[in-house]
Formats: sequence, structure tokens, C-alpha cells
Amino acid sequence: MRKRYRLIECHNEYLVTEEPRSLEEALELARRNFDPRLYSPEAGEGTCWVDLVVYEDHWDPDNEEWRQVGETGCTLAVHPREPRCAPGRQHEWRHVKVAGHGAGLVYTEACSKCGRYRGFNPLPSGDGFLTHGAALG
Ligand SMILES: [Zn+2]
Repeated sequence: MRKRYRLIECHNEYLVTEEPRSLEEALELARRNFDPRLYSPEAGEGTCWVDLVVYEDHWDPDNEEWRQVGETGCTLAVHPREPRCAPGRQHEWRHVKVAGHGAGLVYTEACSKCGRYRGFNPLPSGDGFLTHGAALG
């Protein structure tokens, strides 16, 4: 039986050219080939979330068409790159506050050298979001 796998990454569709044996393997390949540099959010924009969806199609010889038989997917977090500290300095993050935000808590830290802050929401899955910004007001 002929089969194929399709990957949808951020609304673009690709045919998986390697030959995975299962949906799980196709998703694993997609994760491995994923290039976060295509998304890299600017500092201050916060974490960018990218959905990967993989479909398995089987060739239906009677109707001469591909038929979708399975689907799996995941969401990957791409965190913004950390802005540089003041010239010649390294960030030294200090906790400043914890605030409620939607479904979770946001921890805010500020750098004692340059005054920039970063906020993050650590989730058990490790997918917490992260933002950076100029000095806190
Ligand atoms: Zn700093």
C-alpha cells in the first residue's frame, strides 16, 4: 500500500520526503528538522508558538486518490533571543515580582547591571513564554 506524510508548519504544507514508518516518526522528523531561526521573535515580542501537524494519507487505488487516515501534532515554543547587557557587562537577573496572568503566573526579573527586565511563565511542560523589555517603569 502506498502512503505519504504531509507536514503543516505554520499554515504551509510540505510533503515529507524522508520515509517515516509511522505518524510518530514523521512528527519526530518534523521536530528535528524544525528551524527556529525562521521565526526568531524580536526581543520584546515574546515567545512565538508554532504548530506542527502531520497527516498520514493512504493511496486508494479504487478511487485513485489519497485518503487521509491519521493526524498528529505538537506546538513548539520559540523564545526570543536575549538582548545584550550594558557594554562589558553580563546580565545579573534578580527577581522583582510575581503576578497573575491568564492561566498562570508571570515571574518578572530585572537585571541589576542594565535595568532590562524579562518576564516568564514557567509551565511544567517547559513551554513557558518569555518576554524581554527595556527597564521597568
Ligand atoms: Zn543586563
